[in-house]
This record gives sequence, C-alpha cells and structure tokens, in this order.
Amino acid sequence: MEKPDINCIITLLSREYGEPSWQPDREPLGTLVQTILSQHTSDKNSHPAYRALVSAFPDWYAVADASPWEIAAPIRGGGLAEIKAKRIKQALNEIRASRSGCIELDFLNELSVAEAREWLKQLSGVGTKTASCVLLFSLGKPALPVDTHIYRVSKRLGLISERTSVEQAHQALENMVPPEEVYRFHVLLIEHGRKVCKAVRPRCGICVLQKLCPAYGEYGNNQETIAKIQETSR
Ligand code: SF4
Repeated sequence: MEKPDINCIITLLSREYGEPSWQPDREPLGTLVQTILSQHTSDKNSHPAYRALVSAFPDWYAVADASPWEIAAPIRGGGLAEIKAKRIKQALNEIRASRSGCIELDFLNELSVAEAREWLKQLSGVGTKTASCVLLFSLGKPALPVDTHIYRVSKRLGLISERTSVEQAHQALENMVPPEEVYRFHVLLIEHGRKVCKAVRPRCGICVLQKLCPAYGEYGNNQETIAKIQETSR
C-alpha cells in the first residue's frame, strides 16, 4: 500500500490544530537538561523540576560541580531524581572535558545534523531522541525526535512498519519529512496523538486523517464513528 503523503498530513493537521511556528525555547544546554529531566515523566512534572534546578544554581558550572545529592534536591518533583541528577552532572562534565573547560553547546550550530547528533550521543545518557530535541528545539535543525505519540501515529498511518523500532523510526521519518517541515510535523503529530489518535481507543470517527489512514478500518467501529453514521443517516 502506498504511504500517505506527508505534506497532505501536515496540511490537514495544521487546519485542525493551527500553525506551529518554531521559536528557540531555551539555549541548547537548557534543552539538554530539560530533556534528561523529562525522561519517564510528563511535562507537568519535568518543567517545574527544570525551573527549580535553574533557580537553585547560578549557572551550569555550579551544577557540574555540585554533588548528585545537591542536584537531586530541587528536581525531586520530576521523579527519579538521583538517577537524573547523576546523568545531568555527568553530561555537563563530559561537555566541559571535551570543550576545553567550557560548558556550552552553541558550536553545534556549525555542524551538520548528523555530525551534531553523533557528537551529542557520545554523552552519557543521551540517545537519539534527546539529541534530536536539542537540535530541533534550540537550534532549529531538521532533526526529528520520535516520542511515543509520533511513533504510534506514524505506525497507524503506515509511514513506518510495525517492525520498525523507535531508533529506526528517527531516520526513517527524517528521510520522509522535508527538512523545512520537520518542526511542524513533530508538533502536529504529537497534538494529534494526544487529542485524537490516542493509544487506547483512537477517535477515528472524528479524525481528519481518516481518508489517508490504513488503520481507519481497524479502529473505525468505535462509538464515535457509529454515532456519526447514525447522525448523518437521520
Ligand atoms: S484514522 Fe484512527 S488510527 Fe488513523 S490516524 Fe486517525 S485516529 Fe489514528
């Protein structure tokens, strides 16, 4: 079966959810730390933990020099505080060691997406998704982080196969999405996954992608679809 057209997906979703526009959310180091804090928890928990961390220390050098216990104290609300504190400290010190004493990531701007991602992935606890978050959100590079929503919706839409791993999905989707559309695709697919193409009981009856979606038939018999059919046949 032919894959649905990416541009068509983006157009339909942007009509539904509005037009996302990229603006740097924070400097790359901030995004790296925020993304480590967001592992295994929701934004609702990780964002306050990030704010508490940056309020507790004057700069990233102070965080790198602090003990894991001191870092864990302000981020406790974000869950797995001890583990994340160690990861943050280790990543900051690895950056300092390889950047001649500087803790900064602005130099990544000069590298290609592939080079910058590989550089970030050398850091402890940084995988493809975390590296892609730094590159997309802080530097505006066309790197596509694949979270649970993007992975699920992409599979249902037939953009990737059931056998594609999350790791493979990063490259597969990045090859498909035009570089200038990566940010919109990322934001819109997450929005769609949260609101309509939910993990359990996707709301296919109200989905704007139903005509493009090979999974529509699989989930199409849900209550919303039945209600819609009943309403239109009255
Ligand atoms: S039709 Fe259903 S499975 Fe397909 S994208 Fe829409 S909500 Fe998801």
